[in-house]
Amino acid sequence: MTALSLTKPELFRTSSFISGRWHTVGDSTYPVKNPATGEIIAQVTDHGVPETRAAIEAAEKALPDWRDRTAKDRSKILRRWYDLILQHKEDLARLLTAEQGKVLEEARGEIVYGASYIEWFSEEAKRINGDIIAPPSADKRILVMKQPVGVVAAITPWNFPNAMIARKVAPALAAGCTVVSKPAEDTPLSCLALAQLGAEAGIPDGVFNVVCGLDSPAIGQELTSNPIVRKVTFTGSTPVGKILLAQSAATVKKVSMELGGNAPLIVFDDADLDLAIRGVLASKFRNAGQTCVCSNRLFVQEGIYDEFLERLVKVVDSLVVGNGVEEGVHLGPLIHEKAVAGVHEKVADAIAKGARVIAGGESNENGPCFFAPMVLADVLPSMRLFNEEIFGPVAPVFRFSSETEALRLANADESGLAAYCFTKDMARCFRMAEKLEFGMVGINDGAISNEMAPFGGVKESGLGREGSRYGIDDYLEIKYVSLGGL
Ligand code: ADP
Repeated sequence: MTALSLTKPELFRTSSFISGRWHTVGDSTYPVKNPATGEIIAQVTDHGVPETRAAIEAAEKALPDWRDRTAKDRSKILRRWYDLILQHKEDLARLLTAEQGKVLEEARGEIVYGASYIEWFSEEAKRINGDIIAPPSADKRILVMKQPVGVVAAITPWNFPNAMIARKVAPALAAGCTVVSKPAEDTPLSCLALAQLGAEAGIPDGVFNVVCGLDSPAIGQELTSNPIVRKVTFTGSTPVGKILLAQSAATVKKVSMELGGNAPLIVFDDADLDLAIRGVLASKFRNAGQTCVCSNRLFVQEGIYDEFLERLVKVVDSLVVGNGVEEGVHLGPLIHEKAVAGVHEKVADAIAKGARVIAGGESNENGPCFFAPMVLADVLPSMRLFNEEIFGPVAPVFRFSSETEALRLANADESGLAAYCFTKDMARCFRMAEKLEFGMVGINDGAISNEMAPFGGVKESGLGREGSRYGIDDYLEIKYVSLGGL
């Protein structure tokens, strides 16, 4: 339990948080495991529909007071929350690594990254401005107000258990909404620690509630069908996103969906290869390949194909895999054994169809959740890796000859979250930026996500944006007031 010896033990919470209270009375629990060691690190309350309903009602009760406070008041509370998170960064990072597996340095990075959204939206809270529009007749005025949507349900995944909560709760609270949050069952501890610090920062009872439970379909059904909930914000897989969208239709809820990606990373003959390799490292192997913006398909132009592979293999061979709390480790485990099996299946399909393993892959001497980083050469569009998100540290490399071919291959997928492109040709930079059918494009950049930019996808990768000045719009309604008789 060394990973959990926290400086501030109150951050270790194991039950749902409803209306400002830790909800434990006589409830059943489920184990949360450390994927690196298999050790049970917590027993967390296994709540379901009744607690979800109670949380929704708590959020409804808290809404009028929170909504009617001044933006400045909400802003100050968010800012205090941000300060507390940074103050307890080390504890939060250790908790994160223990439940999720990512290496400690990345976990620290996630805490700072997640907190940056709280800082950003503490500022944006004060910039929710309306409008006065030119009227059609002299005796009228057209006023536009922005008002909070109301009670928000936030369902989040296990790959960024801190930041995905922060990215949703911060703009919601800034806008004047109240929230019921359902963290991923594998990683509830980071969310609960955030709730603890939120309460200490002065977030009033019922404004931010957390429900922990294993039966996510039942909890999701309640969150998407209860008429009190006016908005559902989700980050996770595309199939679950589609279920939540369909369920939300019956009560016409506002929705934000951050769904799966299948990011292409295109390296042209004229690219700065050092930059491109750094871009692959940043976009492919972070969180052991388990992010929705991970480069999933590496398209490399034929003139530099061999040299690029040689350099990539050298770098990938130097990556150290192990328990994320140990010094010098670059990649931790995958989240669970099922995830490892899924990666193996896709790799086996590629090998059976002619792909070559030129680096890594095999050993999992660290434990059943580990997968050593791998490079696959001569990958083809007929392989499953072309259309399926890998969610593991495998870099499949495709060869292409022309820009037109690269664009066609990159866009030949239902998803459209992130794309990356490496070239020194300025005209091509613009052509690629405009023609890649993705919500985010990194040109000579493999690390694109930050609180100042609008994160989100097109096509089946989702709806809405998180972060930036656009991000708060997802939590606001526009009201038009026609003022007549003037
Ligand atoms: P991943 O593949 O990353 O695990 P999921 O989409 O399965 O992505 O999970 C993301 C979040 O959605 C998690 O909090 C999970 O518990 C939740 N979830 C999974 N299935 C459902 C469902 N049917 N209804 C509501 N939430 C769900």
